[in-house]
Amino acid sequence: MTTRRLAVLVMLSLSSASAAVAQESTASKTVPTAIEVIKKTITAEQLRTEVTELASDEMGGRFFRSPFAEKAALWISARLESAGLTPTRTAIDSNPETGPNLVASMPAPTSGATPGYILVTAHYDHLRPRRSGEDKIHNGADDNASGVAGLLGVARALRACAGSEHEARCMVLFVAFNGEEAGMVGSRAFVKNPPVPLHEIRGVFNMDMISRGKPREIFLDAGPVGASVIATLKKANEQVGLSLRVDEHPEWLNRSDQGPFLQKKVPAVLFSVEDHEDYHRVSDEVAKIDAPLAAAVAQLVALAVIEMSREPFTPREAPTEVRPASVPAPSVAPPQGASSGILRPWGSDASR
Ligand SMILES: [Zn+2]
Repeated sequence: MTTRRLAVLVMLSLSSASAAVAQESTASKTVPTAIEVIKKTITAEQLRTEVTELASDEMGGRFFRSPFAEKAALWISARLESAGLTPTRTAIDSNPETGPNLVASMPAPTSGATPGYILVTAHYDHLRPRRSGEDKIHNGADDNASGVAGLLGVARALRACAGSEHEARCMVLFVAFNGEEAGMVGSRAFVKNPPVPLHEIRGVFNMDMISRGKPREIFLDAGPVGASVIATLKKANEQVGLSLRVDEHPEWLNRSDQGPFLQKKVPAVLFSVEDHEDYHRVSDEVAKIDAPLAAAVAQLVALAVIEMSREPFTPREAPTEVRPASVPAPSVAPPQGASSGILRPWGSDASR
């Protein structure tokens, strides 16, 4: 081979190598998929850290009508705020000692918005201390610090998707309920005086005990009213790979905060594990949780919310007995300084 031919070959191979490098860097700049963003945002480590804090002895069991529930409410508010949301406190009865529900809304995008609302919910209250025994505090790590940590993870994941092609297209409400252990006091108050019309809610994703049981297995109970939510979840689960046990516990439908919604014909689902040896015992502690399971459940919820927000949706017929406040179409600009108990679906730069 002549020197000249060798030089040409070297140049050719160099240029093809640099083309390969260029191609590779284009590939690495490919926009991550929604599930990639979600998995990066919702991690087992973060979830365990948050359950550790919320289920610590300092939180005193977060029992209804106690300063401990208030402490938990403040803790959750701070985390929602650091996720870029603005939680509001909604009183659930007239007793001044009753802590609030916390509601944080993520607006629909300013362009390409779809109608309706999606709710992601979890209760934060638990049980008062027991009277005797060395360990008195009901930490409630699985019930339901796990669900609250899941809710926070979903909030962060959807915020991470905001402004990208994976953005949720309709308004999403994150609701941390109080008083579930006292008979779903918070969720009953919510459906009695909803901040958005109930017939315009696409689906409610309620997480209550998501961190025990068999690895990567979760029970979903939605019944006939929630069948549409289950359909979305099954599709989303193709990218998450959990073992879904669907509608095996009809007796659970009214057992947690999805119950009051299902009774009003709002599609809703409960994510839960089966009762375990630490259920409602002081031994429901963070050391026992399956953080990867809870993280995977939250990842599934986040992806299902995004997919549901893109599905066609026609609001159900408004109930005749209660006239819900009408909400203008998302394309209408909000009036200056608009403020009322009713949440508006418009995009807002201030809360992004
Ligand atoms: Zn619970």
